[in-house]
Amino acid sequence: MSSCLFCRIASHEIPAIIVAETDDFVAFRDIDPKAPTHILAIPRAHVESLNQATDLAMVGGLVGFVRDVAKQEGVDSSGWRLVVNTNADAGQTVFHVHAHLLGGRSLNWPPG
Ligand code: 5GP
Ligand code: ZN
Repeated sequence: MSSCLFCRIASHEIPAIIVAETDDFVAFRDIDPKAPTHILAIPRAHVESLNQATDLAMVGGLVGFVRDVAKQEGVDSSGWRLVVNTNADAGQTVFHVHAHLLGGRSLNWPPG
């Protein structure tokens, strides 16, 4: 059994509200949402952060997957943001690469 929280969510060992799944990616609602739509999208493959990502097809696939989930959530027209926190200064707390999909309200810029 993996000790990684997001690997365990991807394999359904730990419950989450999953909104989309493909062979390569899983999207689920953030447990502590920062916007009306706050979804985490992850590759099934364990990669600690974008710093360690060598499979750029996976990185591109993740972006396309998030775009499709934004459409499914109905925020494609109103607007949405994709955030990938990487390491300490960005506030990364879970070390399995994940994209935050944020939408459903006006988002501040620049982020804090
Ligand atoms: P980070 O700070 O690493 O960019 O984002 C980690 C995100 O994972 C946070 O927004 C946090 O709320 C979310 N999170 C942490 N633990 C869980 C969990 O057990 N389930 C779900 N659905 N989200 C989680
Ligand atoms: Zn993992």
